[in-house]
Amino acid sequence: MILPQTYVVQKFYQYAGYPKYKKYNNTYEAGCPICREGKSWQRKRRCYYIVDDDYICCHNCGWTSRPLKWIQETSGLSFKEIFDEAATFDILPIDVSKEDIVVKREITSDTLPLDCINLFDHDQVLYYKDNKVVNDALNLINSRRLNSAVNKPDSLWVSLTDKYQKNRIVIPFYNEKDEIVFYQTRAIYNNDDTPKYLGKMNGEKSLFNLNKISADLDYIFVFEGPIDACFVRNGTAVAGIQEKSDKMFSHLQKEQLNQFKLSKLIWVLDSQWLDSASFSKSHRLLDAGETVFIWPEKIGKQFKDFNDVCIAAKINEISPQYIIENSHEGLKAKLLMSNISR
Ligand SMILES: [Zn+2]
Repeated sequence: MILPQTYVVQKFYQYAGYPKYKKYNNTYEAGCPICREGKSWQRKRRCYYIVDDDYICCHNCGWTSRPLKWIQETSGLSFKEIFDEAATFDILPIDVSKEDIVVKREITSDTLPLDCINLFDHDQVLYYKDNKVVNDALNLINSRRLNSAVNKPDSLWVSLTDKYQKNRIVIPFYNEKDEIVFYQTRAIYNNDDTPKYLGKMNGEKSLFNLNKISADLDYIFVFEGPIDACFVRNGTAVAGIQEKSDKMFSHLQKEQLNQFKLSKLIWVLDSQWLDSASFSKSHRLLDAGETVFIWPEKIGKQFKDFNDVCIAAKINEISPQYIIENSHEGLKAKLLMSNISR
Protein backbone atom coordinates (compact mmCIF):
# COMPACT_ATOMS: atom_id res chain seq x y z
CA MET A 1 0.00 0.00 0.00
CA ILE A 2 1.33 3.39 -1.01
CA LEU A 3 0.24 6.53 0.79
CA PRO A 4 -2.21 8.51 -1.34
CA GLN A 5 -0.59 11.60 -2.77
CA THR A 6 -3.36 13.87 -1.51
CA TYR A 7 -2.72 12.58 1.99
CA VAL A 8 0.99 13.27 1.71
CA VAL A 9 0.28 16.79 0.47
CA GLN A 10 -2.02 17.35 3.39
CA LYS A 11 0.66 16.21 5.82
CA PHE A 12 3.32 18.26 4.08
CA TYR A 13 1.15 21.34 4.54
CA GLN A 14 0.53 20.41 8.13
CA TYR A 15 4.12 19.90 9.25
CA ALA A 16 6.43 21.79 6.90
CA GLY A 17 6.85 25.55 7.18
CA TYR A 18 5.08 28.01 4.82
CA PRO A 19 4.64 25.52 1.93
CA LYS A 20 4.25 26.46 -1.70
CA TYR A 21 3.39 24.49 -4.83
CA LYS A 22 5.51 24.75 -7.99
CA LYS A 23 3.35 23.68 -10.86
CA TYR A 24 6.00 23.54 -13.58
CA ASN A 25 7.90 20.67 -11.92
CA ASN A 26 5.05 19.29 -9.78
CA THR A 27 6.94 19.90 -6.55
CA TYR A 28 5.97 21.26 -3.18
CA GLU A 29 8.56 23.24 -1.29
CA ALA A 30 8.65 24.49 2.27
CA GLY A 31 10.77 25.31 5.28
CA CYS A 32 12.23 22.06 6.62
CA PRO A 33 10.66 21.18 10.00
CA ILE A 34 13.45 18.72 10.72
CA CYS A 35 16.42 21.10 10.68
CA ARG A 36 14.40 24.35 10.60
CA GLU A 37 17.00 25.42 8.05
CA GLY A 38 19.30 27.11 10.53
CA LYS A 39 19.25 30.90 10.14
CA SER A 40 17.21 30.91 6.96
CA TRP A 41 13.95 29.72 8.58
CA GLN A 42 11.07 31.85 7.33
CA ARG A 43 13.29 33.10 4.52
CA LYS A 44 14.02 30.08 2.36
CA ARG A 45 12.31 26.89 1.30
CA ARG A 46 14.77 24.07 1.03
CA CYS A 47 12.56 21.11 1.81
CA TYR A 48 10.99 19.50 -1.28
CA TYR A 49 8.26 16.99 -1.81
CA ILE A 50 8.96 15.69 -5.31
CA VAL A 51 5.63 14.19 -6.28
CA ASP A 52 6.69 12.29 -9.40
CA ASP A 53 9.53 10.52 -7.59
CA ASP A 54 7.56 10.10 -4.36
CA TYR A 55 10.16 11.39 -1.97
CA ILE A 56 10.87 14.26 0.37
CA CYS A 57 14.29 15.80 0.76
CA CYS A 58 15.94 18.81 2.37
CA HIS A 59 18.83 20.61 0.73
CA ASN A 60 19.88 22.05 4.06
CA CYS A 61 20.15 19.05 6.38
CA GLY A 62 20.28 16.35 3.72
CA TRP A 63 17.15 14.51 4.83
CA THR A 64 15.97 12.13 2.09
CA SER A 65 13.21 9.57 2.45
CA ARG A 66 9.87 8.37 1.24
CA PRO A 67 6.95 10.49 2.47
CA LEU A 68 6.04 7.83 5.05
CA LYS A 69 9.25 8.17 7.02
CA TRP A 70 9.12 11.96 6.81
CA ILE A 71 5.57 11.97 8.19
CA GLN A 72 6.62 9.59 10.99
CA GLU A 73 9.53 11.87 11.86
CA THR A 74 7.62 15.15 11.77
CA SER A 75 4.27 14.05 13.20
CA GLY A 76 5.46 11.56 15.80
CA LEU A 77 2.74 9.20 14.55
CA SER A 78 3.52 5.50 14.33
CA PHE A 79 3.59 3.54 11.13
CA LYS A 80 0.20 2.03 11.92
CA GLU A 81 -1.39 5.33 12.90
CA ILE A 82 -0.33 6.85 9.60
CA PHE A 83 -1.72 3.99 7.55
CA ASP A 84 -4.95 3.99 9.53
CA GLU A 85 -5.28 7.71 9.04
CA ALA A 86 -4.49 7.51 5.33
CA ALA A 87 -7.02 4.71 4.87
CA THR A 88 -9.86 6.76 6.33
CA PHE A 89 -8.61 10.00 4.90
CA ASP A 90 -10.90 12.45 3.14
CA ILE A 91 -9.50 15.30 1.20
CA LEU A 92 -9.80 18.23 3.51
CA PRO A 93 -9.71 21.77 2.28
CA ILE A 94 -6.20 23.11 2.69
CA ASP A 95 -5.81 26.67 3.80
CA VAL A 96 -2.58 27.53 2.04
CA SER A 97 -2.54 31.08 3.27
CA LYS A 98 -2.26 29.92 6.83
CA GLU A 99 1.49 30.02 7.07
CA ASP A 100 2.35 29.97 10.73
CA ILE A 101 2.43 26.26 11.19
CA VAL A 102 3.38 24.95 14.58
CA VAL A 103 6.00 22.22 14.52
CA LYS A 104 5.19 19.61 17.10
CA ARG A 105 8.66 18.52 18.07
CA GLU A 106 12.26 19.21 17.25
CA ILE A 107 14.12 16.51 15.43
CA THR A 108 17.89 16.43 15.55
CA SER A 109 18.95 14.25 12.66
CA ASP A 110 18.25 11.08 10.81
CA THR A 111 20.78 8.64 12.11
CA LEU A 112 19.69 5.45 10.42
CA PRO A 113 20.08 4.28 6.82
CA LEU A 114 17.39 5.26 4.31
CA ASP A 115 13.80 4.09 4.90
CA CYS A 116 14.59 1.74 7.74
CA ILE A 117 12.04 -0.85 8.86
CA ASN A 118 11.93 -1.56 12.58
CA LEU A 119 12.11 -5.33 12.95
CA PHE A 120 10.91 -5.14 16.55
CA ASP A 121 7.73 -3.29 15.52
CA HIS A 122 4.89 -5.73 15.00
CA ASP A 123 2.92 -3.50 12.62
CA GLN A 124 5.86 -2.83 10.35
CA VAL A 125 6.84 -6.47 10.23
CA LEU A 126 3.26 -7.43 9.40
CA TYR A 127 3.19 -4.93 6.58
CA TYR A 128 6.35 -6.47 5.06
CA LYS A 129 5.38 -10.06 5.81
CA ASP A 130 5.85 -11.16 2.19
CA ASN A 131 9.21 -9.45 1.71
CA LYS A 132 12.09 -11.89 1.37
CA VAL A 133 14.81 -9.65 2.81
CA VAL A 134 12.69 -8.77 5.84
CA ASN A 135 11.95 -12.44 6.44
CA ASP A 136 15.60 -13.44 6.06
CA ALA A 137 16.56 -10.69 8.50
CA LEU A 138 13.99 -11.93 11.02
CA ASN A 139 15.19 -15.52 10.64
CA LEU A 140 18.79 -14.48 11.25
CA ILE A 141 17.78 -12.48 14.32
CA ASN A 142 15.84 -15.46 15.57
CA SER A 143 18.60 -18.03 14.95
CA ARG A 144 21.21 -15.78 16.59
CA ARG A 145 18.82 -15.33 19.58
CA LEU A 146 18.93 -11.55 19.20
CA ASN A 147 15.21 -11.25 19.85
CA SER A 148 15.49 -12.91 23.25
CA ALA A 149 18.97 -11.88 24.46
CA VAL A 150 19.01 -10.37 27.95
CA ASN A 151 20.67 -7.14 26.80
CA LYS A 152 19.19 -6.75 23.32
CA PRO A 153 18.87 -3.19 21.98
CA ASP A 154 15.49 -1.45 21.89
CA SER A 155 15.25 -1.93 18.14
CA LEU A 156 16.82 -3.66 15.15
CA TRP A 157 16.30 -2.41 11.61
CA VAL A 158 16.70 -3.23 7.96
CA SER A 159 16.79 -0.95 4.95
CA LEU A 160 15.73 -2.17 1.51
CA THR A 161 16.86 0.96 -0.29
CA ASP A 162 19.98 2.49 1.26
CA LYS A 163 22.83 2.67 -1.23
CA TYR A 164 25.47 1.28 1.16
CA GLN A 165 23.56 -0.41 3.95
CA LYS A 166 20.61 -2.08 2.27
CA ASN A 167 19.78 -5.74 3.01
CA ARG A 168 21.78 -5.71 6.23
CA ILE A 169 20.65 -5.84 9.84
CA VAL A 170 21.09 -2.40 11.35
CA ILE A 171 22.13 -2.47 15.01
CA PRO A 172 21.49 0.92 16.61
CA PHE A 173 23.76 2.43 19.26
CA TYR A 174 21.58 4.33 21.71
CA ASN A 175 23.07 6.99 23.97
CA GLU A 176 21.97 7.66 27.55
CA LYS A 177 19.06 9.78 26.28
CA ASP A 178 17.63 6.89 24.23
CA GLU A 179 18.76 8.55 21.00
CA ILE A 180 20.36 6.55 18.20
CA VAL A 181 23.71 8.22 17.57
CA PHE A 182 25.61 5.51 15.70
CA TYR A 183 24.96 2.13 14.16
CA GLN A 184 26.67 -0.95 12.84
CA THR A 185 25.23 -3.20 10.17
CA ARG A 186 25.68 -6.93 9.69
CA ALA A 187 25.35 -8.71 6.35
CA ILE A 188 22.31 -10.97 6.05
CA TYR A 189 23.71 -12.90 3.10
CA ASN A 190 27.15 -14.50 3.19
CA ASN A 191 27.51 -14.46 -0.56
CA ASP A 192 27.55 -10.71 -1.14
CA ASP A 193 30.92 -9.01 -1.51
CA THR A 194 30.41 -6.47 1.24
CA PRO A 195 32.12 -6.87 4.63
CA LYS A 196 30.27 -8.80 7.31
CA TYR A 197 30.18 -5.70 9.54
CA LEU A 198 30.01 -2.07 8.49
CA GLY A 199 29.86 1.03 10.64
CA LYS A 200 27.95 4.20 9.94
CA MET A 201 29.83 6.27 7.37
CA ASN A 202 31.43 9.40 8.79
CA GLY A 203 29.89 8.73 12.17
CA GLU A 204 31.80 8.99 15.41
CA LYS A 205 31.70 5.70 17.28
CA SER A 206 29.48 5.73 20.33
CA LEU A 207 29.20 3.04 23.01
CA PHE A 208 26.53 0.39 22.38
CA ASN A 209 23.46 0.21 24.65
CA LEU A 210 24.53 3.09 26.85
CA ASN A 211 20.85 3.50 27.79
CA LYS A 212 20.91 0.06 29.41
CA ILE A 213 23.97 0.37 31.61
CA SER A 214 22.90 0.27 35.23
CA ALA A 215 24.83 1.33 38.30
CA ASP A 216 23.30 -1.66 40.15
CA LEU A 217 26.13 -3.72 38.75
CA ASP A 218 29.67 -2.62 39.61
CA TYR A 219 31.02 -3.82 36.27
CA ILE A 220 30.75 -2.79 32.65
CA PHE A 221 31.63 -5.47 30.13
CA VAL A 222 33.25 -4.05 27.03
CA PHE A 223 32.93 -6.09 23.83
CA GLU A 224 34.24 -5.34 20.40
CA GLY A 225 30.94 -5.98 18.64
CA PRO A 226 27.35 -5.29 19.74
CA ILE A 227 25.98 -8.78 19.06
CA ASP A 228 28.05 -10.46 21.79
CA ALA A 229 27.29 -7.57 24.14
CA CYS A 230 23.59 -8.49 23.89
CA PHE A 231 24.13 -11.55 26.07
CA VAL A 232 25.39 -9.92 29.26
CA ARG A 233 23.78 -7.35 31.48
CA ASN A 234 25.81 -4.12 31.40
CA GLY A 235 27.36 -5.28 28.16
CA THR A 236 28.54 -2.54 25.85
CA ALA A 237 30.60 -2.49 22.65
CA VAL A 238 33.10 -0.17 21.03
CA ALA A 239 32.48 -1.24 17.40
CA GLY A 240 35.95 -2.69 16.96
CA ILE A 241 39.45 -1.89 18.16
CA GLN A 242 42.50 -1.65 15.97
CA GLU A 243 45.07 -4.36 16.45
CA LYS A 244 47.97 -1.96 16.32
CA SER A 245 46.64 1.15 17.96
CA ASP A 246 46.66 2.35 21.55
CA LYS A 247 43.36 4.12 21.07
CA MET A 248 40.74 1.83 22.56
CA PHE A 249 37.91 4.40 22.66
CA SER A 250 36.77 7.23 20.45
CA HIS A 251 36.67 10.69 21.97
CA LEU A 252 32.90 10.40 22.40
CA GLN A 253 33.16 6.96 24.01
CA LYS A 254 35.69 8.30 26.51
CA GLU A 255 33.30 11.07 27.47
CA GLN A 256 30.45 8.57 27.79
CA LEU A 257 32.51 6.38 30.12
CA ASN A 258 33.18 9.34 32.39
CA GLN A 259 29.64 8.98 33.71
CA PHE A 260 30.57 5.57 35.07
CA LYS A 261 33.78 6.39 36.88
CA LEU A 262 32.92 4.06 39.75
CA SER A 263 32.35 1.04 37.54
CA LYS A 264 35.09 -1.41 36.74
CA LEU A 265 35.68 -2.19 33.08
CA ILE A 266 36.25 -5.74 31.89
CA TRP A 267 37.18 -6.40 28.28
CA VAL A 268 35.53 -9.43 26.68
CA LEU A 269 37.02 -10.29 23.30
CA ASP A 270 36.61 -13.36 21.10
CA SER A 271 38.25 -16.55 22.35
CA GLN A 272 42.01 -16.14 22.58
CA TRP A 273 42.25 -19.87 21.83
CA LEU A 274 40.70 -19.54 18.40
CA ASP A 275 41.35 -16.00 17.25
CA SER A 276 44.88 -14.69 16.83
CA ALA A 277 43.79 -11.05 16.55
CA SER A 278 41.97 -11.41 19.83
CA PHE A 279 45.05 -13.02 21.37
CA SER A 280 47.30 -10.11 20.47
CA LYS A 281 44.67 -7.51 21.36
CA SER A 282 44.33 -9.12 24.80
CA HIS A 283 48.06 -8.76 25.30
CA ARG A 284 47.94 -5.11 24.35
CA LEU A 285 45.05 -4.41 26.70
CA LEU A 286 46.86 -6.15 29.56
CA ASP A 287 50.01 -4.13 28.82
CA ALA A 288 47.87 -1.01 29.13
CA GLY A 289 46.77 -2.15 32.62
CA GLU A 290 43.27 -3.29 31.57
CA THR A 291 41.31 -6.25 32.94
CA VAL A 292 40.53 -8.93 30.37
CA PHE A 293 38.25 -11.97 30.30
CA ILE A 294 40.52 -14.92 29.60
CA TRP A 295 38.57 -17.71 27.96
CA PRO A 296 38.83 -20.95 29.98
CA GLU A 297 40.35 -23.69 27.83
CA LYS A 298 37.33 -25.96 27.68
CA ILE A 299 34.89 -23.48 26.19
CA GLY A 300 37.55 -21.28 24.59
CA LYS A 301 38.63 -24.12 22.32
CA GLN A 302 35.05 -24.86 21.34
CA PHE A 303 33.44 -21.47 20.84
CA LYS A 304 34.60 -18.29 19.15
CA ASP A 305 32.37 -15.80 20.94
CA PHE A 306 29.49 -15.34 23.40
CA ASN A 307 26.86 -15.47 20.70
CA ASP A 308 28.04 -18.94 19.66
CA VAL A 309 28.05 -20.12 23.28
CA CYS A 310 24.48 -18.92 23.82
CA ILE A 311 23.21 -20.47 20.59
CA ALA A 312 24.79 -23.84 21.42
CA ALA A 313 23.55 -23.81 25.02
CA LYS A 314 20.14 -22.29 24.06
CA ILE A 315 20.51 -19.55 26.66
CA ASN A 316 19.96 -15.80 26.54
CA GLU A 317 22.47 -14.71 29.14
CA ILE A 318 25.99 -15.34 30.35
CA SER A 319 26.12 -14.48 34.01
CA PRO A 320 28.25 -11.50 35.03
CA GLN A 321 29.70 -13.70 37.79
CA TYR A 322 31.14 -16.13 35.27
CA ILE A 323 32.92 -13.32 33.45
CA ILE A 324 34.18 -11.70 36.63
CA GLU A 325 35.62 -15.00 37.88
CA ASN A 326 37.54 -15.53 34.66
CA SER A 327 38.82 -12.00 34.24
CA HIS A 328 42.32 -11.00 35.23
CA GLU A 329 44.90 -8.28 34.99
CA GLY A 330 48.66 -7.92 35.37
CA LEU A 331 50.95 -10.84 36.02
CA LYS A 332 48.20 -13.38 36.75
CA ALA A 333 46.60 -12.63 33.42
CA LYS A 334 49.91 -12.87 31.56
CA LEU A 335 50.54 -16.23 33.14
CA LEU A 336 47.16 -17.55 32.04
CA MET A 337 47.73 -16.17 28.57
CA SER A 338 51.01 -18.02 28.33
CA ASN A 339 49.10 -21.30 28.74
CA ILE A 340 47.16 -20.57 25.59
CA SER A 341 49.07 -22.50 22.99
CA ARG A 342 48.69 -21.01 19.60
ZN1 LIG B 1 16.31 20.06 6.73
